[in-house]
Amino acid sequence: MHQEHTFNKIAVVLDTGALLAKYYRLLPRTRVDIFTTNSAVTEVRDLENKRALLEAIELEVIRVLDPEDRYVSTVLIVAKNIGSLSKLSQTDVQIAALALMLRGKYNNVVVITDDYELQNLLLSLKISFKPLRTRGITCLTIYSVYCPLCLYTPSNPGETACPFCGIPLVRRRLS
Ligand SMILES: [Zn+2]
Repeated sequence: MHQEHTFNKIAVVLDTGALLAKYYRLLPRTRVDIFTTNSAVTEVRDLENKRALLEAIELEVIRVLDPEDRYVSTVLIVAKNIGSLSKLSQTDVQIAALALMLRGKYNNVVVITDDYELQNLLLSLKISFKPLRTRGITCLTIYSVYCPLCLYTPSNPGETACPFCGIPLVRRRLS
């Protein structure tokens, strides 16, 4: 692994949908290290997206890393406990496990995903996440603190500002 100082950086983990949206082109790389898993890379099949993705990997814009088994085991236990195991893909589990593994190295780890089951799992694992699309989200009721602009949802309820937008997070009153 690289030796640079990562404490002030955010680790962003992209799921397959985020790779397809080329979300890695939108992130400020001075503040963000971008990761994904081999399973997500494999799911990108169309030629144009695959070519762009492989180029980004070659240029080290994206680091492809697979989680160690013990993190996968933890994720599987939590998924089973919340009754999501059958609804999660193998890639969902890998993505969550990678985020868990990176949490020991980074101050903040954020998974970019529109997948509701994965978001729910991340909430249970206390891992921050951010959807790609900010419109059409129907499950906002599960979030208590979020960025009103990009829907970044922190794992730590004490966070006050969005690390992507810099604006204050809002707190939803739970009815
Ligand atoms: Zn934001």
